[in-house]
This record gives sequence, C-alpha cells and structure tokens, in this order.
Amino acid sequence: MSTPPPVIQIDGLHKAYGALEVLKGVSLSAPRGHVISLIGSSGSGKSTLLRCCNLLEDSQQGDILFKGEPLTWKGTGHDRRPSDAEQVLRIRTNLSMVFQQFNLWAHMTILQNVMEAPLTVLRRDRAEVEKAARGYLDKVGIGDKCDVYPAQLSGGQQQRAAIARALCMEPEALLFDEPTSALDPELEQEVVKVIKDLATEGRTMIIVTHDMKLAADVSDQVIFLHQGLIEEQGSPDVLFGAPKSERLRGFLSATL
Ligand code: ADP
Ligand code: MG
Repeated sequence: MSTPPPVIQIDGLHKAYGALEVLKGVSLSAPRGHVISLIGSSGSGKSTLLRCCNLLEDSQQGDILFKGEPLTWKGTGHDRRPSDAEQVLRIRTNLSMVFQQFNLWAHMTILQNVMEAPLTVLRRDRAEVEKAARGYLDKVGIGDKCDVYPAQLSGGQQQRAAIARALCMEPEALLFDEPTSALDPELEQEVVKVIKDLATEGRTMIIVTHDMKLAADVSDQVIFLHQGLIEEQGSPDVLFGAPKSERLRGFLSATL
C-alpha cells in the first residue's frame, strides 16, 4: 500500500509584507496523524507560516499542496493570487485554525459559535450540526455551557469552545497559533489537556507554541524558525535533548 500524501505540504515558501521578507524559503510536510510544533522567537515568522498554510495570507513564491493537490496560482511575485476559489475554500475549511485570542463571536452563544461555520460555509443539515456541536463541546469538557455567551466563560473555557468550533468543521488538520499564550497558568493546563487528547486520537496538527513542554510531549516533529528560515528540525528528543544550532541552544536556555 502506498503512503497517502501529507495533509499539508509547503515547498520553498517565500512571503514578504511589502519590502519586509518574513519567510525566506520554508518547507514543511505534515503527514496524516502527525503533530508538528513550530517554535522560535517572537517575529521569526511562525504565525505568518501558519496563516500561509490555510491561505489567510498570500505568498510570493513556493508551492502549497493539500493532500497532494497543488494550489493553483495566477500571476507572480507580489501579484500572485490563488486562481481557484473553490480550491481555496476546500483547503481553508479543511485546515481549521485556533487563535491565541479565541476569536469567538461575542453576540452568539457557545453552541451558535460552534454551529455557525458548518451551517453557513459547509451548508450542512442543522439537526446534524447541532448534534455534532454538542458532542464536541462535551468532548472538550464544556457541554454544560451551550447556551451562555463567551464573556460568561473563563479564558480556558473560551479556548476550549474555540477548539470545539474548529473540530465541528470536521477538518483534515487543526492549526493552533499560540493557543495557551493568553491564559493564566492554571487555565493553560485545561487547554493543554484537550490538545494532548487530540494528539492521542491521531489528529493531524500544526501547533505554534511557546510551551516547550507541550511541544516535547505531543510532537512528532519540532521546527525551530529563525528570521524566516528553518534553523533546525527533528524529533523532540533530538531537538530538545541535543540541539545542534547555537541559536536554538540560546533560544531554549532563554525559554526554559
Ligand atoms: P511570530 O508569529 O513568529 O511572532 P509573525 O509571523 O507574526 O511572527 O511576524 C513575522 C514578521 O512579520 C514580524 O516582523 C512582524 O512584524 C511582521 N508582520 C506580521 N504580520 C504583518 C502584517 N500584517 N503586516 C506587516 N508586517 C507583518
Ligand atoms: Mg505569532
């Protein structure tokens, strides 16, 4: 049996904001069921890379493949844009993002937040979506919070609601951008537990995190970004246990 193509693959990606080069030729590949952690100093390009993966940002050069299917482009350089809107929608809905600041809709209940995109973007059946949404909220431990508004929840509960919302899209992969950075330490752990459970289930995930313990515990592969380039990558054992690069050693000693 041949191995399936990676859920997401990036080859030689370049991304600039105007004259500021943020990604300078980055490649990564997330096989199904793998967890990849992205680590690096503030400003190294981690969020930009994640946002390029699900096409929230344009890029000027390099390939993006979803399950082996290359994204098609029109134009080049700063004029380059995806050429197929359906393909963009397919990729974006299959790579669900969880943000540092939760980004829940304040005027909707928790249940409505989780149901919104499957109903409006995927046009799925309301009764089915509601059943699934309640199931995912149970799974992240806030099944009793369906009818309250985000402001009534703690940060940890809001982030778990955001994870349920991402799961309710039934995506091929989950992308986390510093999911625990906005949380107090005791609330951080409830979100870490949910992420660990998802890793154990075999979910494909890319996690930008400053939490080296989380990265060490859940990752198949850790990528250390430095100024828009991959400085070092490997298994957590090797990367944390025997880092080769001077910069990574410096980063780790400043972080731990
Ligand atoms: P990280 O997530 O690793 O902290 P980012 O990907 O957010 O890094 O940012 C990388 C660089 O790109 C930084 O220098 C940042 O200031 C810049 N940057 C990020 N977003 C934008 C934007 N929308 N416009 C201009 N510059 C940006
Ligand atoms: Mg960031």
